[in-house]
Amino acid sequence: MCAELIKTKEILEEFERSGIEYLHIDIMDGHFVPNFMLSTEYIKTMKQLTKIPLDIHLMIEKPDDKLDWFQFGEGDIVSVHVESTCHIQKVLTAIRNRGAKAFLALNPGTPLCVLDEIKDDVDGILIMTVNPGFAGQKMIPATLEKVRKVKAIFKEIGRDIPVEVDGNVTYENAVIMREAGADIFVVGTSSILARGIDLHAAIEKMRNCVN
Ligand code: ZN
Repeated sequence: MCAELIKTKEILEEFERSGIEYLHIDIMDGHFVPNFMLSTEYIKTMKQLTKIPLDIHLMIEKPDDKLDWFQFGEGDIVSVHVESTCHIQKVLTAIRNRGAKAFLALNPGTPLCVLDEIKDDVDGILIMTVNPGFAGQKMIPATLEKVRKVKAIFKEIGRDIPVEVDGNVTYENAVIMREAGADIFVVGTSSILARGIDLHAAIEKMRNCVN
């Protein structure tokens, strides 16, 4: 949602040159979040344009009924929000059954007790560091503590799963998110996709912040 559509091809070429690990794609339905963003067709196009794995972030009501609409598979990540379905375990399992990694997405207000019964059903956790819906918001500081807590919860059961942070990942915030334990950083207009900057240099700068 942060990339200038008209520059999609050149941005993707730079991402490939720079070894970007995933393309984070926000899907919004205007119900689960108060905005509309990207579609199933966009994902098909991305699959044609690049070999970079996709990281599909579903912010839609009842993803259980709609997973088949989305093209994903081996190597991709799919994130679903616990509040978007009555059957979160079923959705996570369906994602895994298609070969993708199933991530659970947590809003800033989502309590961590939702993890209790599904710790074995997730391959990673996506922590929203802003409330989902719009780019350009400020990071909610309490979400850093959430990153620490999630890492600790899984460490306790002997699992080292990736924690992804999404929202206002500026260069400065990336440093403290990394310190808190984040492994995957969703970057957009707050950093590498800010308008009018050198994309290659911006990616290098971001890598230095998180390594
Ligand atoms: Zn996202």
